[in-house]
Amino acid sequence: MELTRRSFLKVSGASIGTVLTGGLGFDLKPAMARVQDLKISNAKAVKSICPYCSVSCGVVIYSLTDGAMNVKPRVIHVEGNPDDPVNRGTLCPKGATLKDFINAPNRLKKPLYRPAGSKEWKEISWEEALDRIARLIKDTRDRTLIEKDEQGRIVNRMESMVWVEGSTIANEEGYLWVKMGVALGTVLRETQARI
Ligand code: SF4
Repeated sequence: MELTRRSFLKVSGASIGTVLTGGLGFDLKPAMARVQDLKISNAKAVKSICPYCSVSCGVVIYSLTDGAMNVKPRVIHVEGNPDDPVNRGTLCPKGATLKDFINAPNRLKKPLYRPAGSKEWKEISWEEALDRIARLIKDTRDRTLIEKDEQGRIVNRMESMVWVEGSTIANEEGYLWVKMGVALGTVLRETQARI
């Protein structure tokens, strides 16, 4: 029989398997199941949504923490959420790398602000960022709200701002987001989600 590299690997792999499972009487299944158990057995599971694209696949994020305030949880595993009707436990290759994205040392965790005319970004707090966003929304609305149309009918609409929501927010948050957009008078409203 001519032995190619492929057939050599096949034959040797099958032989080792036969020796371990049959020849020596080992059953590897319980051992493998135990290894899978151990990886996440003490981890805290949190359901979330993949932030990468508009499909919005459900994920389960496992992290190690004892719950103490001074302990930073460490994410050890991310997998598709089998209960999520969008993806039913599956993830595309990009979503499957979420753990590395979460743990990346250069991941942006604070808002950056670049004043007009400046080349430099500076880190600001979330309070500062939210105050500034609120201020700009209010000023824009005060400046551009159209209260009446050409025929004198009350319309209270703001065509100067586009109201967009991300695909990682849940239905309830999305409902509130639209409510707020309508209350402000926006007419150009869109969501990133395509599900
Ligand atoms: S897992 Fe893939 S398809 Fe699903 S939301 Fe993430 S990037 Fe999109």
